[in-house]
Amino acid sequence: MSGLQNLAILGATGSIGLNTLDVAARYPQRFRIFALSANERMDELAELCLRHRPRYAVVAHALQAEALGRRLQSGATEILTGPQGLERIAAHAETDCVMAAIVGAAGLAPTLAAARAGKKLLLANKEALVMAGPIFMEAVRSHHATLLPIDSEHNAVFQCLPDAFSGELGAHGVRRVLLTASGGPFREVPLERLHSVTPEEACAHPNWVMGRKISVDSATMMNKALEIIEAHWLFGATHEQIEVVVHPQSVVHSMVEYADGSVIAQLGNPDMRTPIAHALAFPERIEAGVGSLDLTRIGRLDFSTPDFVRFPALRLGYRALKEGGTSPATLNAANEVAVSAFLERRLPFLAITAVIEAVMNELRPRALSSLADVLDADAAARRHAALRVEAMTV
Ligand code: NAD
Ligand code: MG
Repeated sequence: MSGLQNLAILGATGSIGLNTLDVAARYPQRFRIFALSANERMDELAELCLRHRPRYAVVAHALQAEALGRRLQSGATEILTGPQGLERIAAHAETDCVMAAIVGAAGLAPTLAAARAGKKLLLANKEALVMAGPIFMEAVRSHHATLLPIDSEHNAVFQCLPDAFSGELGAHGVRRVLLTASGGPFREVPLERLHSVTPEEACAHPNWVMGRKISVDSATMMNKALEIIEAHWLFGATHEQIEVVVHPQSVVHSMVEYADGSVIAQLGNPDMRTPIAHALAFPERIEAGVGSLDLTRIGRLDFSTPDFVRFPALRLGYRALKEGGTSPATLNAANEVAVSAFLERRLPFLAITAVIEAVMNELRPRALSSLADVLDADAAARRHAALRVEAMTV
């Protein structure tokens, strides 16, 4: 597509949102910043609105809207609020492309609205897909949305699959999908130290600068657990076809193995602007501001099997995928509650996965046939997780 595309960014002030603006702003003749949203950091949103002059800005509530309105004055940007505002920009008739970059379950409704409106949908918000996999994929199919993965691993897998990928791995001779994982900041920290690690330590990722929630998920490896489920829905891979390979340099972003033994990998410097640019311009290629990969300077690439004892979250991810139904929504919601509690210093690091496992044991999976089932499972898991957190509070 070479005409001007109207871009709506859900979660514009976050790490993915800002990287998206960085890439899109290089191509004013391709992308018009049509709508931006943010939940906090209103000063930053005001600056983004003054710079990009979107038609719409969405904030959480009326007080924020008033304050933003005073800052913008010119009236070039209409300010909307809350979940209705998000759904409106996601499904707006003039929106061509939606970057779904809100963190967590809060992103589900607008991301689903973009799919139902048949948009070109750039999916960073993996939690939405994990919670509501079958409903989300059905919406993409029946409304002819174009779904492009932004998660670096899934974007890599997408690039390693044939252009005409039908959604069925077997039909293309694919044997396995190999998801790489850096192992996060605690890959080699002595086990006895893990109970006392702080939010600051957990958020100091060795290779990527990301929002706090996904940084903690990387430290527990729950991020990879969510990505296993994400790979299942995006590529139709069964749990037996998805393998996690620890690769601390984060240069090989993931791989696809074919029946003849060929393994195709996508490599690059760890910079989210690469998958973002790939999806924004797909099927063309554009400059993203990312430097050349210097393999001779990097010198070596290491690979090892993940440690399921140190990282029980991986086991929980496979378990949720095998159980199916509401189990991934339960896993995701319990994780969101436990991670918030850890970030607020109400829960020790190792208790995060303990809370999730306890909630998964308490709430047996049920069939998932509607969005209401997803929201019920999410709400129940949040209630149970909150009680567990209270019981374990330090
Ligand atoms: P972030 O915390 O930096 O940004 C989140 C954005 O969502 C912000 O703009 C925030 O204002 C908005 N937001 C938060 N809560 C909201 C709510 N309740 N309602 C409406 N908006 C809300 O997060 P991030 O690191 O940019 O990650 C965003 C998503 O992308 C996550 O789902 C994450 O898993 C995924 N992702 C991120 C990276 C990365 O490198 N950062 C890589 C792969 C996938
Ligand atoms: Mg990832």
